[in-house]
Amino acid sequence: VFVCLEGGEGAGKSTQAKALAGWLTEVGHTVRLTFEPGDTAVGRELRRIVLDPATGDLSARTEALLYAADKAEHVDTVVRPALERGEVVVTDRYVDSSLAYQGSGGLDRAGLEAMLRWSTDDLRPHLTVLLDLEPRQGLGRFTERDRIEQRDLDYHARVRQVLLDLADDDPAHYLVLDARLPVDEVTAAIRARVEPLLGQ
Ligand code: C5P
Repeated sequence: VFVCLEGGEGAGKSTQAKALAGWLTEVGHTVRLTFEPGDTAVGRELRRIVLDPATGDLSARTEALLYAADKAEHVDTVVRPALERGEVVVTDRYVDSSLAYQGSGGLDRAGLEAMLRWSTDDLRPHLTVLLDLEPRQGLGRFTERDRIEQRDLDYHARVRQVLLDLADDDPAHYLVLDARLPVDEVTAAIRARVEPLLGQ
């Protein structure tokens, strides 16, 4: 079973990913908790490049390809092998982040989708949990901002809308939650939705 957490900055994805992985372990599953970008050796280097404000401007295609390289390495060396071993994989960000962040940078959507299908070898999650939060609120939780977080609120508003539209288009594979809810309520809602998938 492959579960993704998605959402804008400060929505609580990593907290919820940890809580979900903790619970899955308690109920007897072997869990691979992971994230993008950066959970492989080359991914760590790619993450540094794309997020360091010192990198400066990149061509939108270059940026998309760097994230896609991280994703290819992640799928091939972490996600797919874990799924093949029968583990439950919980990832903090995946394809939707690329469609939202790189897709909000002026790239052609169809081309981006084709490139992402190729870089993930078309591996799709069983469920994507979208923690939805107004960008102003999410970004307010940080003082130090990475290269992407430094972009303006309009950009982050477009990112949020792409994520919501993806969920709207495919409700069977999404759980959308208001990230302002108490942490425990969000955790419980995620568990309730993941539990029936565990037989797969
Ligand atoms: O989730 P986390 O805060 O670790 O993400 C790191 C940064 O990478 C964030 O600023 C996020 O906006 C950015 N990102 C991105 N495109 C992706 C994945 C993450 O711009 N595909």
